[in-house]
Amino acid sequence: MITDLKILKERERQVYLKGEEPFDMKCDVKSTAGSVSQRACVFCGSRVVLYPVADALHLVHGPIGCAAYTWDIRGALSSGPELHRKSFSTDLTEKEVIFGGEKKLYQALNELIEKHSPKAAFVYSTCIVGIIGDDVGAVAKRVAKEKDIPVIPVHSEGFKGTKKDGYQAACTALLKLVGKGDIKGISKTSINILGEFNIGGEAWMITEYYKKMGVEVVSVLTGDSRIENIKKAHGASLNVVQCSGSMLYLAKKMEEEYGIPFIRVSYFGLEDTSKALYDVASIFKDNTDVMEKTKILVKEEVLKIYEDLLFYKKHLTGKRAAIYVGGAFKAFSLIKALKFLGMKTVLVGSQTGNDEDYEILRDMCDDGTVILDDSNPIELSKYIVEKKADLFIGGVKERPIAYKMGIGFCDHNHERKTPLAGFKGMYNFADEVYSTVMSPVWKFCPIRPELYDNPFLKRGIL
Ligand code: SF4
Repeated sequence: MITDLKILKERERQVYLKGEEPFDMKCDVKSTAGSVSQRACVFCGSRVVLYPVADALHLVHGPIGCAAYTWDIRGALSSGPELHRKSFSTDLTEKEVIFGGEKKLYQALNELIEKHSPKAAFVYSTCIVGIIGDDVGAVAKRVAKEKDIPVIPVHSEGFKGTKKDGYQAACTALLKLVGKGDIKGISKTSINILGEFNIGGEAWMITEYYKKMGVEVVSVLTGDSRIENIKKAHGASLNVVQCSGSMLYLAKKMEEEYGIPFIRVSYFGLEDTSKALYDVASIFKDNTDVMEKTKILVKEEVLKIYEDLLFYKKHLTGKRAAIYVGGAFKAFSLIKALKFLGMKTVLVGSQTGNDEDYEILRDMCDDGTVILDDSNPIELSKYIVEKKADLFIGGVKERPIAYKMGIGFCDHNHERKTPLAGFKGMYNFADEVYSTVMSPVWKFCPIRPELYDNPFLKRGIL
């Protein structure tokens, strides 16, 4: 039975049961061989960060599989061009692996730039490119000169680290654009929104909040972004960083190079969304108007949804949730949002959390909560059953685990089309959690935790 499964010895310090002593979690390390990590590769990490830049050409230099695997990976919405939603690949084959792929890359860039007139091009290096040693930088430089647009190599060979290294490669690519635009006329009360990818229109909602507060948004990195706005990002007075796992590196570099301070925020849940807006308002305290407008905005938005949230809370109180997400910062907000709905978090983990993140999670969770770093399907399945979770919140790779275990699922990552950020997002989140947790379908599922005696389990169908 699944609850009898043992975790891998090398991973023992990456799983912690709150309440047990000592707390000595191992994290921020490469995945253990033999553990089917839920993490994506370095290339995928950089692809998800850069992908929403809508007027850029995204060319994957590698075999077709790398591009197919990440095709339209975020489905990020654009208010204009949609070049990002195409998946271009140099389709390297045996011939290029033997004789080199630089010629094919040069031809592909020329053909695509002529056909689509992008404002810039990102060229992603995949595993095989790192192995055969193509000089992607030299080809990019040549094409940039000939076509007079930025052509930026993204050094994201899949094998060279973790998904986090992919985030850093993406930030390094973005830094090649920042600082190149004209910043005349940008207000002192201005920000960049970092780490918001506009999967379901969240960037638009959040930008609208800031507009109402009287704060100018210079650039969103990278949801619905345009090359011209990214080039002007150094003109903002503050970087507001969400999804800090992916964008903290860029924020730190911009602080070093342009003296722009940054704060970390989250737009998930009532508490954290309000805090994010108030934190920004308090930074612009010289402009008292901003704080006044923020108070009015928060009050109006909370009042719009409060009654409905109480309805959901009435039905969800006492239900148990498992959370497994990319960055731990999102998990903090989810725990608070679930608590607001009367739910208890019984499992929480992340792909890329660091020491500080896990200490915060330990302090936020009740005794008995399982905290995991860089987990795998076997561990997640085991603890979901053991902890009798009613709901699993995760991304595309966690969805089948939830359904196989016979519990509700909420996608908090790439695949959803409903915004879960901001005040309206909290309503959408509560509605989705309610719909999936309370669905009658789970009564008919043979592997519900309360049906442990079910013959399917006894026959070892798991
Ligand atoms: S691991 Fe390598 S081959 Fe696989 S998708 Fe990533 S870059 Fe491509």
